[in-house]
Amino acid sequence: MKDVNHWIGGESQPSQRHLDVINPATAEPVGRVALGDAATVERAIEAARRAQPAWRDTPPAKRAQVMYRFKALLERDADEICALVSEEHGKVLEDAMGELKRGIENVEYACGVPELLKGEYSHNAGPAIDTWSNHQPLGIVAGITPFNFPAMVPLWMYPMALACGNAFILKPSEQVPSAALKMAELLTEAGLPDGLFSVVHGDREVVEALIDAPDVKAVSFVGSTPVAKAIYQRGAENGKRVQALGGAKNHAVVLPDADLDNAASTLIGAAYGSAGERCMAISVAVCVGDDTADALVKRLSQEARELKIGAGTERGLDMGALVNAGHRDKVAGYLQQGVDAGAELVVDGREHPLVESSPGYFLGASLLDRVTPEMSVYRDEIFGPVLCVVRVASYDEAIALINAHQYGNGTCVFTRDGEAARRFADAIEVGMVGINVPLPVPVAFHSFGGWKESLFGDLHAYGPDAVRFYTRRKAISQRWPRSQDRESAQFNFPSN
Ligand code: NAD
Repeated sequence: MKDVNHWIGGESQPSQRHLDVINPATAEPVGRVALGDAATVERAIEAARRAQPAWRDTPPAKRAQVMYRFKALLERDADEICALVSEEHGKVLEDAMGELKRGIENVEYACGVPELLKGEYSHNAGPAIDTWSNHQPLGIVAGITPFNFPAMVPLWMYPMALACGNAFILKPSEQVPSAALKMAELLTEAGLPDGLFSVVHGDREVVEALIDAPDVKAVSFVGSTPVAKAIYQRGAENGKRVQALGGAKNHAVVLPDADLDNAASTLIGAAYGSAGERCMAISVAVCVGDDTADALVKRLSQEARELKIGAGTERGLDMGALVNAGHRDKVAGYLQQGVDAGAELVVDGREHPLVESSPGYFLGASLLDRVTPEMSVYRDEIFGPVLCVVRVASYDEAIALINAHQYGNGTCVFTRDGEAARRFADAIEVGMVGINVPLPVPVAFHSFGGWKESLFGDLHAYGPDAVRFYTRRKAISQRWPRSQDRESAQFNFPSN
């Protein structure tokens, strides 16, 4: 049994309190994670306070060199990191590799930080006055991350925060803690000075200590909507900059002219990949017209029944276990709620053989047809391998349905009609939109974020918004008057 310790001041630090870390495919503990408290947070802040002033004054190009080496080390140890992710989360190894690669893209983007921090300059902004604005680091910033992307979501945050000259304290999900610790070791190996990156494990107590600490200037959060909202409110009360990304219910609209074979096979991956435990998973297919719905459900039901499910650490599977027993039971409970409310359960994941035969937290893929907007399976984020089909009569009805939903993270439309696609991109009230792309997760040089109850704050995660989030801007005006140019006192407001 391994101990997953805190990482503070460039070294592993044990704890008095622990929580078991469980492998969801076996329901067996694989280690125990440290549980921190306010005092642990204070130690991490103290280490950051000591280290950050020199890092702030380190040229951005030198800070970027740490990121170049970090990227190479992540690639060197990718298999080990993915094994940790798969063992603690349950997702299949190939999917863990996918998330790590998307995470590494953010390290690559952070390597360009000298270019990104260049600022703006105006010669002769006024008479013989030059004005420039630059980005300065905030100091100490924190990130709180969810269970479902143990490698990628933290990588959305700290490479750019560090490259911008900040110290960063990470509170990863206590359910999947090992990848964060491994990456902390790699940052040290890459040459990051001690104290600039700390990992404090724990739960709500650690999170609240971070949000309440006056030295922590900004908080990035990714997780469920109720927690995101609470963190945004508490952070704002404390005068902090907060970006809090929450839950989702992502719709795919299927128009009658869509290539249905392509729509069905890509929807299967987008709905059931990572057992649906993705904030960008497609959980609702909105079919325009009954013919479209009948044809799609026929294709989806066949493919959903054939998914290869098992322990994520085995090769060649489509889907692993859900993260814990309580979550698996909650997802299964939603299936019953759907049936009781009148939906048609075309494929019932509770009937998968592994549900009975394995001690792991398995659930097969489920497909619910004839779901209607008032049902809980439609309104709530289920966050499991469940795809709901809603039938509508028109394209306008599909758009109105999505716009009325509380969440607005991702969405997509399947069509061959360019005008319809363009109208969708324009009218839909969702932060990330795909056109024949079911998982429109932006690449690292764009930013990621939903609308409505899917994000609290204004700046999105990673990409250009991250530079803005992890720095504050300063505008400097300078004038070097010659003696003959000196002016007497002016009491009117100076203007050009
Ligand atoms: P969660 O909200 O339960 O936990 C997220 C983090 O907050 C964890 O580190 C956890 O320890 C901490 N936490 C939990 N309860 C807390 C509380 N009461 N006070 C303070 N901190 C608390 O989320 P989860 O179950 O780990 O992750 C799944 C959720 O995350 C889903 O809702 C999913 O949609 C969302 N998510 C969103 C995005 C996005 O980009 N919008 C990305 C990934 C996941």
